[in-house]
Amino acid sequence: MEKLRIAIQKSGRLSEKSLNLLKEAGISLNNGSRKLRSVAQSFPLEVIYLRDDDIPQYVEDGVAHIGIVGENEYAEKACEVDLVHRLGYSRCRLSIAIPKSEGYGGLEDLNGKRIATSYPVILENYLAEHGVRADVHVLSGSVELAPSIGIADAIFDIVSSGSTLISNGLKEVEVIMKSEAVVVANRNLNTEISKLLDDLLFRIRSVLAASNNKYILLNAPNKNLEKIIDVIPGMKSPTVMPLAEEGWSSVHSVLSEKTFWEVIDQLKDLGAQGILVIPIEKMIV
Ligand code: ATP
Ligand code: MG
Repeated sequence: MEKLRIAIQKSGRLSEKSLNLLKEAGISLNNGSRKLRSVAQSFPLEVIYLRDDDIPQYVEDGVAHIGIVGENEYAEKACEVDLVHRLGYSRCRLSIAIPKSEGYGGLEDLNGKRIATSYPVILENYLAEHGVRADVHVLSGSVELAPSIGIADAIFDIVSSGSTLISNGLKEVEVIMKSEAVVVANRNLNTEISKLLDDLLFRIRSVLAASNNKYILLNAPNKNLEKIIDVIPGMKSPTVMPLAEEGWSSVHSVLSEKTFWEVIDQLKDLGAQGILVIPIEKMIV
């Protein structure tokens, strides 16, 4: 039987979360010693560990059938691969930053400037689209140092909290793209491998849905039951059971992480009591 070959970053900001995602999808790997390859026990899958820069090309070439990369690398390498799923972790943005003492009136201020970056393709496309002529200077690392050592006037780099920029005396002036971890796939997978990919994506969706939702139990006064049900509609509709105490019901439902606190406030206003919120292990969607 064929195995689905997945490329994962060998070590870095995507590695641990990606391996954890596979683990939560029920795929355990014996990679205690961090080899170059490992074979899964309970699913026909093999992991190849690579530098993230190399993953899009290896997937295009079919060395790996699929890979997990930052959307930034997917965009920069512009390989012939399909983005098949977003994963929601390793979120960051790619921004232009300039020394904080400089004024900034808009993109046109970048005309004639030198911009240091490890993402020349994304940057050049963006500048061309906006009619800006700047000199793009490619660096493979420590881009944030470029202005202070005098080799660039601005940088274009990954930003998450912004603290690296601040500690290098820079300020963010343009956000050019947002990025998160994504699954990319080779465009010519055979039927057997496509079926394995569908099975894996189904498991991944269940894991992601579970982490984005919570199970909620509460006691509701019957006079507000309808309104409470409207606030927590759940997957189909909530489970409602009478309490031993007259005039009260127990309501069970599923609640999205996104609107969590807002909904809790509404439930309290509607007289809900004894609210319990429980993590969901898997959610079959
Ligand atoms: P490699 O050695 O594999 O080439 P790298 O140094 O290029 O690794 P990392 O710093 O490990 O890459 O980042 C991997 C990916 O994680 C980035 O391409 C980006 O998508 C995302 N990322 C980078 N920095 C952050 C951050 N501060 N917060 C969240 N995600 C980030
Ligand atoms: Mg890299």
